[in-house]
Amino acid sequence: MSGDDFWAGIETRHAAAVDRGEHDGLCEWRPGFYLCHCSKREREARGLTTPPTLTHQYPLCSGCDREVYHNGDGWECGRCHTSWSSGAGEDERGTFTDDHGDLSGGPR
Ligand SMILES: [Zn+2]
Ligand SMILES: [Zn+2]
Repeated sequence: MSGDDFWAGIETRHAAAVDRGEHDGLCEWRPGFYLCHCSKREREARGLTTPPTLTHQYPLCSGCDREVYHNGDGWECGRCHTSWSSGAGEDERGTFTDDHGDLSGGPR
C-alpha cells in the first residue's frame, strides 16, 4: 500500500471501526486529526489503568505442559525427567534422564 492509499483509506477505515462499535460518543477523531481516546476510555472503564507487565516464559515441556528449568547445561523437565540442550529449538525432542541403559550388570 502506498502512502497516498493509506491516507485516502483512513476515513473509510475509521467509519468501519465506528460501525464495529470501537468508538464512543466522545470520539475526538476528525478528518485531518486522526487521534481519539475511545480505546483509552474503554480500557479505563475496564479498570486497566496501569500498563501490564511482560512475562518471559521458559520453554514448555510439551509432555507436561509446564515450564522447564535451566540446570546450567541445558533445559530440564523435573516431572517427566527429560532434558534438552541449551540450544534446543521449537519442537525438538529431548532425552530421558532416568534411562540409564542396562543396569543388570551393576554391583549387587
Ligand atoms: Zn474514537
Ligand atoms: Zn515434562
